Amino acid sequence: MTPLEPVTDAPVLVTGASGFIASHIIAQLFASGYRVRGTVRDPSSARHAHLRAPVGAEDRLELVTADLLEANAFDRAVKECEYVLHTASPYQIDVADPQRDLIDPAVNGTLSVLESCMRSRSVRKVVLTSSVAAITDRADGHVNTEADWNTRSSLSRNPYYFSKTLAEQTAWSFVEKEGIEFQLVVINPFYVIGPSLGPEVNTSHGFFTGFTNGSVPAILAIEWAFVDVRDVATAHVLAMERPGAEGRYLVAAGTRTMRQVLDLLRSNGWGDRYKLPSISLDRGIGIPLSKAVAAVQARGTRDYLMTHLGGSMRFDNSKVKTELGLVFRDVDQTILETMDDLERWGHLGKK
Ligand code: NDP
Repeated sequence: MTPLEPVTDAPVLVTGASGFIASHIIAQLFASGYRVRGTVRDPSSARHAHLRAPVGAEDRLELVTADLLEANAFDRAVKECEYVLHTASPYQIDVADPQRDLIDPAVNGTLSVLESCMRSRSVRKVVLTSSVAAITDRADGHVNTEADWNTRSSLSRNPYYFSKTLAEQTAWSFVEKEGIEFQLVVINPFYVIGPSLGPEVNTSHGFFTGFTNGSVPAILAIEWAFVDVRDVATAHVLAMERPGAEGRYLVAAGTRTMRQVLDLLRSNGWGDRYKLPSISLDRGIGIPLSKAVAAVQARGTRDYLMTHLGGSMRFDNSKVKTELGLVFRDVDQTILETMDDLERWGHLGKK
């Protein structure tokens, strides 16, 4: 599909601007000529310095303060915007209090952003970053599509997944109300990896750093559906720009088992530089053994492992390819670039 001219002269609002995915969305928006207004919790923090690095950022980026937990916090941020990309949401697996730390910011924050959009009268479309978590919370061989909803998660089972499911459901219910004049489009990325524009390690890089620092000591029977962060960002921009974009878009490029990832790393020399996991727990007795170890991990990690160990992850990504024209990067290339980037930032080999 041919690139479009910018669809708005007004700034595009990106919530959670400093995040892993949002930083790439913002860089792509600059490259396409947009002005960007990003929300952060603390605009004076040095954590946002990388947002000003891309060409165009110096005079086309505005950062404003907004917290998902504060009432009416996004009123000023959405003012005069026509397009809002709502990415902000806590992305943590292990938390002290799932209701306070995950559900409240995800659900009330989404509601808060949508209410501000409604009051603005200027907003035409909201693109919400949902997740695989709102589609399924287990690897069970089922071929996941946009029609699937996660019905199993709860406060006591995979609460991060629960927070994303409730937040997306809240958004769909909100736009069904009478008098809502803007459209909602939802992006459901699977396991997002790839180079980071900022210095922080994203939650989804945890396994990759863990391969080199001993915190993932064995090869586990896990299969992931990966997608490159740059493709996730492109999906958001296309969903914003394409007039025909509608509904949910499952965004995943390809599956790899942990063993396949580690074989790829070894064949590209990573095993010479780091002590990669070599104990096999991905076959036979290894699977019940790893489940026994999983049972004594922190609650979020335990749930994740129990619902994914030994399973296979399947999906159908045809909607985003045919309707938005998204072309996915090669998964192996993304895995290798992820490792290069983590090393560049100094994240490998240390806990
Ligand atoms: P990051 O942790 O890098 O980004 C999360 C962003 O949310 C940060 O900018 C953070 O702001 C913001 N945020 C968290 N809590 C609050 C709050 N109370 N008020 C305001 N802002 C808040 O994660 P990702 O970039 O990976 O995630 C972005 C989105 O993508 C999330 O919605 C996540 O659920 C979703 N997602 C991620 C996947 C992945 O594999 N990475 C897969 C599927 C979906 P601050 O900088 O102030 O902390």
